[in-house]
Amino acid sequence: MKRKLVFATNNAHKLEEVSEIVKNTIDILSLKDIACEEDIAETGTTLEENAFIKVRYIKDNYDYDCFGDDTGLEVEALDGAPGVYSARYAGDGHDAQANMEKLLQEMQGVSNRKARFRSVIALVLEGKEYQFEGIVNGTIIEEKRGEKGFGYDPIFVPEGYDKTFAELGNEVKNNISHRALAVKALCDFLNTL
Ligand code: IMP
Repeated sequence: MKRKLVFATNNAHKLEEVSEIVKNTIDILSLKDIACEEDIAETGTTLEENAFIKVRYIKDNYDYDCFGDDTGLEVEALDGAPGVYSARYAGDGHDAQANMEKLLQEMQGVSNRKARFRSVIALVLEGKEYQFEGIVNGTIIEEKRGEKGFGYDPIFVPEGYDKTFAELGNEVKNNISHRALAVKALCDFLNTL
């Protein structure tokens, strides 16, 4: 039987992406479904902290079992930046175009283009907490390509491909992405219960 869990995100792209991957294992309730309209402040300094802030908030205030993810783009030549600050790299406002511009600027003339997306999923289930991780390695290209996806997708080429996430689209991305891997680890775990 499918398990009902809240997915603690306000990001419609993520909700769509993840709902598709978990459709056989989890019956997702969105924050809208539980009438949670507040912005949950992500005040942690690591992806792990932020993921747990979100799920604990939902458990404490709405009493639902819940999972949530936090993701960062970690660029090797920038010592792991923007990392946990990926959403607001160019300042508050969550502007993907400005974030990409800033990153391309920082990377100008840098020959090591290695980067990875890392997703951490936190789960609170029946009074216990669990954590899952997914990583996809790749490179940052020098100019944006592609229209699909969101965030840094137009400048990230995953290892083994010559197209950006924004060119590959959800069908491919849902099989290989950081979030897909973390979500699959979550589903594998739930399927063992
Ligand atoms: P979040 O905190 O998990 O929403 O992710 C933080 C930021 O990382 C987002 O605002 C995006 O800029 C970026 N990000 C997360 N996942 C992806 C992805 O799949 N593709 C591109 N950028 C992403």
